[in-house]
Amino acid sequence: MAHFEILLVLEKVKVDKLSPIARSHLMAKVRNSNTLPELQLRRAMWTIEIRFRLGQRIGRTQPDIVFKRARLAIFIDGCFWHSCPIHGSRPKSNQRFWEKKLTRNVARDRKTTTDLESAEWVVMRFWEHEVDQDAFGCARKIAKLLGKSSTGNLRQ
Ligand SMILES: [Zn+2]
Repeated sequence: MAHFEILLVLEKVKVDKLSPIARSHLMAKVRNSNTLPELQLRRAMWTIEIRFRLGQRIGRTQPDIVFKRARLAIFIDGCFWHSCPIHGSRPKSNQRFWEKKLTRNVARDRKTTTDLESAEWVVMRFWEHEVDQDAFGCARKIAKLLGKSSTGNLRQ
C-alpha cells in the first residue's frame, strides 16, 4: 500500500475505529514509508544542489537525512505522530492508548536528540507543516548549516 493510500485509509476509517492490531500495522507502514514531507524536502534540497545519500544510520538511529562529514542529522516530524503544538491532536476514542503512544513518541524524539547532541551531532528537526509550507526555506536552513551558498538554482 502506498503512503498516500494509507493516508486516505486513515482519513476514511478515522484511525481510532480500527482494531489495535490493524492500527499498529497501519502505523508501522506509515512510519516506514517515504513520507510526503520527506520527499518534498529532498526535492527542494536536490534543486538547490545539496547532495546526500539516503538510508544512512547513526548507530541504531535512522534520521531522515544524514550528513556524516558535517555531523548533521535531520528529522522531519509528522504533526500527528510527534504531537506538533499546532496540529497535534488526541483521537477521542481509545484515549489511553493514544495518550501513551503519542507521549512515548515525543519522549523518544527528545532522547534521540539529546543522545545525538551529546555525541556531538547537530540535530535539526522540522515539523511536517514547516516542510509542507516552505520546503525551500527548510532546505536553505540546511544549506546554511552545511556552510553552502543556497543561491544557486532556486527555481521552484
Ligand atoms: Zn504541525
